[in-house]
Amino acid sequence: MPLALYDTWSRTLRPFTPLRPDHVGLYCCGPTVYDHAHIGNLRTYVFEDVLRRALALNGYTVRHVVNITDVGHLVSDADDGEDKMEKGSRRTGESAWAIAERYTVAFQHDWRALNLLEPTLWCRATDHIAEQIEFIADLERNGYTYRTADGIYFDTARQDDYGYLARLDIAGLQAGKRVALGDKQRATDFALWKFSPPGSTRQMEWQSPWGVGFPGWHIECSAMSAKYLGPLFDIHCGGEDHIAVHHSNEIAQTQARHGTRLANFWLHGHFLMLDAGKMAKSGGDFVRLQTLIERGVDPLAYRYLCLGAHYRSSLRFTMEALDGAQAALGRLRKAYRQWPEGGAPDAEAVARFKAEVDQDLNLPRALAVLWEVVRSDLPAATRRATVDCFDQVLGLRLADWHEDVVTIPAAIALLAEQRDAARAAKNWREADRLREQLQAEGWQVEDSAKGQVLRPLD
Ligand code: AMP
Ligand code: ZN
Repeated sequence: MPLALYDTWSRTLRPFTPLRPDHVGLYCCGPTVYDHAHIGNLRTYVFEDVLRRALALNGYTVRHVVNITDVGHLVSDADDGEDKMEKGSRRTGESAWAIAERYTVAFQHDWRALNLLEPTLWCRATDHIAEQIEFIADLERNGYTYRTADGIYFDTARQDDYGYLARLDIAGLQAGKRVALGDKQRATDFALWKFSPPGSTRQMEWQSPWGVGFPGWHIECSAMSAKYLGPLFDIHCGGEDHIAVHHSNEIAQTQARHGTRLANFWLHGHFLMLDAGKMAKSGGDFVRLQTLIERGVDPLAYRYLCLGAHYRSSLRFTMEALDGAQAALGRLRKAYRQWPEGGAPDAEAVARFKAEVDQDLNLPRALAVLWEVVRSDLPAATRRATVDCFDQVLGLRLADWHEDVVTIPAAIALLAEQRDAARAAKNWREADRLREQLQAEGWQVEDSAKGQVLRPLD
């Protein structure tokens, strides 16, 4: 059965065939590097990594491009407010360039901790200013732009099908006009080039045919994807929040310059939610992968958690669910370690696993096949070889895992942290109570010069 993917453009599950035999061009919108990524952002990259692995499982060579947004993403999607990079600079006192560098490195660190395959190419918006200017100049030549006091804008009224991806109700949007228009002619019009504010110098600004300034956020993806994948490529991905504005605008620009809708398939990952609502970078209150790691969580347990929910359903994040994922991963690793090498995969199990993956990346069902194999009475060496095949898609690095790495459940790490705080406050009674609680949970605490060390009780 061929791979079928749910395409947001057509709102249908479509059999996947590449535009060029055996090769797939895949573009994924990357991070805006004014702050750390939160685990919600990372959920989207895990989904994209599984997609890439599923394409490889189907024999395709994937050219995977991920951009780094290091300029132009404004605080508000309505094209006003500060640039997120310059705002980050004010917050931390570092230059916008230093911030971009620091958070790019931190992001790529998270990327590797989750065992995401390295993209064929990372590309930064600030390394492609000339390409973006050329793109805008072509849009201007084709009559799709107008000038206001603060920039060059895309005229969405020129396209009858503007917003089709999101099924936007343009008439309703115009009538409502809840969005601050500024000098824009329509709520849906968007900035291609913004002028540096008069009388002030931005840290990130460039000369252009229209004046000194910086590119709008959407143009970088249209310009860089055209450069590296061509004006029509196979699959474009991102989180569901990108459908209504960012991706609709990428399509509008590319349509106006190249006459294509950019990608043959549009895939969107649904959000990771906290109890309080969606997890957003701008909300200030977000969970980082590094914070979880410091609490003793294995980053691959977070990956496992993501695999347990279909990418097109939202996932509510709780520490309990993460602990459950970590425990399941622990059981899987223990089982795997007992199996000898040298077997051959069970063809029937591999086919069933692949059928689930091929059905719009149904990883929850693929995991169910995995557990059936783990618990089956197939010879141990066969189970190992079969699970090795599965792990090419799951990316849990089962073959690399060694038992001596002790993983501490998040709830235990939290108790230890509270005990640390109690000791720092010289609240010895509370510290002793927490030590006893940890013991009751099966963990021994030893106080050393470097702080407390946790060991599982035998
Ligand atoms: P950003 O760095 O904000 O540009 O976002 C990077 C990626 O994370 C984009 O594909 C977003 O759509 C996605 N994203 C943002 N918030 C979440 C969330 N809570 N859950 C899943 N994906 C998200
Ligand atoms: Zn993009």
